[in-house]
Amino acid sequence: MESLIPQKKNNLLSSYYSDILKRRSGDEIMVLANIKRFVDCCAGSGLLRKSLKENDLEVAQFVCRSHRIDLEVETLLPIWHDLFDVENRKSDRNDNKYQKMWCEWVSDTEKFREKYKEAGGECQNTKFRKWRGRQIERCKTELGDTKRITHSVAAIELSSGCSVGCWFCALDAKKFEGYFAYTPENSSMWAECLSVLTEELGPALQTAFCYWATEPSDNPDYVKYIKDFYDVVGLFAQTTTSQPLKNIEWTKEVLKLYNNENAMPCRFSLLNYNELLKVHEIFSPVDLLTVELIQQFKGSMTKKSRAGRLLMNGTRSGYQTLGSDDVGSTIACVSGYLVNMPERRVCLVTPCMADRQMPLGYKIIDECFFKDAGELRDFIRGSIDTYMQEYLSSDDYVRLRQDIEIRIIPDGIELVVTPSNVRIKCSERYGSMLKILSQDGVSVRVFMDKMLEAGKDYFEIMNDLQQFYDMGFLEDLSAVKVN
Ligand code: SF4
Repeated sequence: MESLIPQKKNNLLSSYYSDILKRRSGDEIMVLANIKRFVDCCAGSGLLRKSLKENDLEVAQFVCRSHRIDLEVETLLPIWHDLFDVENRKSDRNDNKYQKMWCEWVSDTEKFREKYKEAGGECQNTKFRKWRGRQIERCKTELGDTKRITHSVAAIELSSGCSVGCWFCALDAKKFEGYFAYTPENSSMWAECLSVLTEELGPALQTAFCYWATEPSDNPDYVKYIKDFYDVVGLFAQTTTSQPLKNIEWTKEVLKLYNNENAMPCRFSLLNYNELLKVHEIFSPVDLLTVELIQQFKGSMTKKSRAGRLLMNGTRSGYQTLGSDDVGSTIACVSGYLVNMPERRVCLVTPCMADRQMPLGYKIIDECFFKDAGELRDFIRGSIDTYMQEYLSSDDYVRLRQDIEIRIIPDGIELVVTPSNVRIKCSERYGSMLKILSQDGVSVRVFMDKMLEAGKDYFEIMNDLQQFYDMGFLEDLSAVKVN
């Protein structure tokens, strides 16, 4: 298959990522890979954290040896203090060369995450781009900390359901029902759907990935599909697997593909400490330098998202023991299209705070089943026209989001968002506008009449209302289905 976005090849997100690696010498990569392994061990092993906290270097050395870390624990202590031990943290990171090296690496990878988010904005369709921008702004206030939400423009499932059945699954994946086999018919359908997505979403499709509430390795043809994705989009989309040890040859094949300058970093989700040990036994530190290890087990420092199965089945004390987020949260990271190839289903989705009404942490704005790529295109175009208007028109209904509370404070007005507890200070001049918007939905026409009656300037009000819309402060009064 031929790339549909060849002119963008040099600007690919993955090139930015490979530059992070290319800027470092082989020796630096080796040191960084060992430091990463140490940091992963600290995050996963309560015993290592305890022994370092108590300065028991003998036990710490033993843990490092069993994870094949090729650096002395003593040399790694400044990194431990910096990341995990506030009392002993020193402010000057330049004192220690390993610590400096690690901080620069982390800063580069964090910048990459920002680039990832920006790349999703490279859709040539202004309506889609602005809609996604509004979702990003809304999430910042609705969810609070949204650093990890990339707002990818698409996720494509290549199976129906998931065979793993994690008890905490934030997406509450249904049971595995089968996969999209790489038959001649399916592979041409895949090629046509990728073409449609690329034509409609443009270079923003770089942020897409080929799983959602599915496990990539459940589809034995997964590698063939991501090779096609590479041919069309120009990069290997991110792979996250919770089964890196199920078929080690498969995992090695995937990692080998990703050892390419046009590849996104991979992620392994680990379900118990033995898996961490085993992964460290099988793969070298350098193999895993660009693989994020998400350690989903007791004793690890990863907090589980209180969404999906955990939200629906958990108890308050359970949440505390398991180290979940304090309030509802989300792992959903797509503001765009969720496509399931075997079911031929497509949904327009965007992240939200998981709660009893939206337990999966994302809203389905619209959905349909498609027979072929042409119908997929029709749905995308139709949804952009229906739900993504750039400007409010006089017949639209507007209302302040229901999670936003207005409080009068001595020097103005404060908008308080519950439960994220985000606070936004506003000038008093927004008072009358907020009063109208906080009541039941009102049409823009009626809203304008009321504001003009109160002696406000037409252009100023229109501008303020549009700003509220762009910041995602207004309720999306178009139909939202409960997932
Ligand atoms: S967390 Fe991932 S691997 Fe586990 S059940 Fe959900 S989709 Fe499957």
